[in-house]
Amino acid sequence: MKLNDNFRKMQSNYLFYTVRVKTNEYLEKHPGAEVIRLGIGDVTLPLVPAVIDAMHSAVSDMGSAATFKGYGEDFGYSFLRRAIIEQDYKPLGVDLALEEVFINDGAKSDTGNFAELFDRDNVVAVCDPVYPVYVDSNAMAGRAGDFDGERWSKLLYMPCVASNGFIPEPPKEHADIIYLCFPNNPTGAHIGYDELKAWVNYALREGSVILYDAAYCAFIEGDMPRSIYEIDGAKRCAVEFRSYSKTAGFTGVRCGFTVVPNDLVFDGQSLRTMWARRQTTKFNEASYISQRGAAAIYTPEGSKQAMESIAYYKNNAKTLREGLQALGFEVYGGVHSPYVWLATPNGMTSWEFFDALLDRAQVVGTPGSGFGPCGEGYFRLTSFGTLENSLRALERIKANF
Ligand SMILES: *Cc1c(COP(=O)(O)O)cnc(C)c1O
Repeated sequence: MKLNDNFRKMQSNYLFYTVRVKTNEYLEKHPGAEVIRLGIGDVTLPLVPAVIDAMHSAVSDMGSAATFKGYGEDFGYSFLRRAIIEQDYKPLGVDLALEEVFINDGAKSDTGNFAELFDRDNVVAVCDPVYPVYVDSNAMAGRAGDFDGERWSKLLYMPCVASNGFIPEPPKEHADIIYLCFPNNPTGAHIGYDELKAWVNYALREGSVILYDAAYCAFIEGDMPRSIYEIDGAKRCAVEFRSYSKTAGFTGVRCGFTVVPNDLVFDGQSLRTMWARRQTTKFNEASYISQRGAAAIYTPEGSKQAMESIAYYKNNAKTLREGLQALGFEVYGGVHSPYVWLATPNGMTSWEFFDALLDRAQVVGTPGSGFGPCGEGYFRLTSFGTLENSLRALERIKANF
């Protein structure tokens, strides 16, 4: 028996592990220290009442023969897929057919699995810094080449830096598979209509596919694209992933969806048909209870309550962003996103700033370099904590930096 040797090439996922180890070491040396954790990428507010009610009633359905649900409908219950089509897409002027929407157990699975449809010999383009799932899943599939400690030899890295507003331009080179994530994790940047249009035009010209991760779309403000399908031609080149994790606190419930339009045809093959084939073979749907919970977000009450949670996190983000700006930090993100991305002061590396912040202010964040080489010199703070802790963190940073 031979192992998949690609796993040997992969570094252990040391970013959040090292953050945890360093935090615990600090706490051992300083018992009783009150550490404020602004490094987490997980939500903290509970599920809203409308979702809880819907899930309770779904549990009751499961307890009676007349309403019991076993295996669900293929690709997800139509009550949820119809709500998505009517309420997430129709208001944007985007028409989708029922079969183009696939319910899943969260966006991580599908963003990690989708490239299974593509040959190993494709050029993959990723942002730098980047959400690690896109890179690691391609590395596992043998599509990334070899890792030199910083970069994979076969990936096309697109630097996202202050000079381009953290929005990558389409490369001069050809790329086959392009991962874009907007609003972005970790930089918090969001892409505008013109820039997104440039990407769609590039993909149509080059015959590439864009895998568009919109996990944070609920945080978008003002006249900005909510979906890549707002751009003409995107249905012929883009798959879109969404999740209820960050928009409605579903990180522990598990539910999201992927849109694979019928117009996505490469080499005479429909990606939708291929994805349907793949999902029926390897996936059996999110639970009925999760899908009932998700559907509750589309009721007037549920949507209002979910928006209140988003507003709470957005206010934390604004507080952190404006507070750090007032202290003279160079700050990005935090507007269309729960993430605030700051340049480390005095030329510190990301990890030097991590240590200094923990040591002097007892605040934990995430070093930008952990998301890719271009993240060096940057630092991510999240708004998923409480307002009180966001304010306390600011006071401590003010007193110590
Ligand atoms: C959190 C996150 C997801 C969503 O993950 P789930 O599996 O839906 O919980 C997807 N993409 C990005 C960039 C994320 O940060």
